[in-house]
Amino acid sequence: MTTHSLLILPGDGIGPEVMTEVRKVIDWFQTNKGIQFDVSEDLVGGAAYDKHGVPLADETMQKAQEVDAVLLGAVGGPAYDNLDFSVKPERGLLRLRKEMDLFANLRPAQCFDALADFSSLKREIVAGLDILIVRELTSGVYFGEPRGIHSDDNNPQNEGGRVGINTQRYTSGEIRRVARAAFELAKKRGNRVCSMEKANVMESGILWREEVQWVHDNEYPEVELSHMYADNGAMQLVRRPNQFDVIVTDNLFGDILSDAAAMLTGSLGMLPSASLGAPMANGRPKAMYEPVHGSAPDITGQGKANPIACILSFAMALRYSYDLGAEADLLEKAIEKVLADGVRTADLMGPDGGTPVSTSQMGDKIVEALSAL
Ligand code: NAD
Repeated sequence: MTTHSLLILPGDGIGPEVMTEVRKVIDWFQTNKGIQFDVSEDLVGGAAYDKHGVPLADETMQKAQEVDAVLLGAVGGPAYDNLDFSVKPERGLLRLRKEMDLFANLRPAQCFDALADFSSLKREIVAGLDILIVRELTSGVYFGEPRGIHSDDNNPQNEGGRVGINTQRYTSGEIRRVARAAFELAKKRGNRVCSMEKANVMESGILWREEVQWVHDNEYPEVELSHMYADNGAMQLVRRPNQFDVIVTDNLFGDILSDAAAMLTGSLGMLPSASLGAPMANGRPKAMYEPVHGSAPDITGQGKANPIACILSFAMALRYSYDLGAEADLLEKAIEKVLADGVRTADLMGPDGGTPVSTSQMGDKIVEALSAL
């Protein structure tokens, strides 16, 4: 029987609290579905700094390279705010992303019916929403050279005499690998990819469009592909978001579009994410899963943290790292049921009332719902 390896890095603040609830879900799948997980746990962020003097020990980095998937809680907190930049908790996270070469960032925007009224848009526009934004994470204008702020003294027309430069640069290989990731993901969902760029005004956008089309025509002709200018994409996301399945876009547009899409669904405590790299020997991508939220020091230790973002991150691992799509669906259905029953952590308490529960009670309710489905 296949054993699925998982490295858990709870991190700081509410990270360990929400991870305890993920453990309950993992135990449920092991006991009730006979799925074998080989779970190990280690330190990251401030917790790693306290023990090792660095936010990620070399041995932990090595383990992360060897497992099927990494699940991270959150890092950071006031106790570490004044540390030297090189050992700040976030450096642990960045080291993982860099050394695992996680070039595709996945941000789902999924609206649970019971929470549709939390959205900034009308219920009828967001109900049933389930889209996935794939953002290229390691190249583009945030990394391109030349960059900098220079003096522009020889230009008398320039009041202030300075010029700021960033370069949008993509190689065909960088575009093809993130396009492949998007097509692979679409095959596990609605089988549709919409690629967004600004091919009308940017050469890098023309290359983006041509290369995504090339990957489609040569490797994924069975997946439906469309192209859209990113500004129109932004409009369509708030006008009729349900028209999309998977959106693939570059680092800059993806940064903006994924934040906009996140707000379609309401609370920060509900948002999972994943970062994927190149396929490993088993054909599955290197992967790290993490909730979008941070370590929430304002509510740490009070039993107020919503564990759903972290549990949904684990659901993404089930789907994309372990090829357990049916189990991921089941877990998402259990969460949907709990929310439909009015069970709410403090961050989800709205005008409709509901039963306020603690972090731990929310985990228990989700496990109960798994058994009931
Ligand atoms: P945050 O996401 O930690 O918190 C923002 C607000 O949302 C807070 O009011 C918090 O209580 C609430 N919140 C967040 N997650 C919640 C959850 N699961 N359930 C209920 N409420 C939740 O962002 P911040 O306050 O800007 O940052 C706090 C610390 O986290 C800082 O040290 C920051 O650097 C770090 N941080 C880490 C990550 C990461 O690990 N990926 C991401 C963002 C911030």
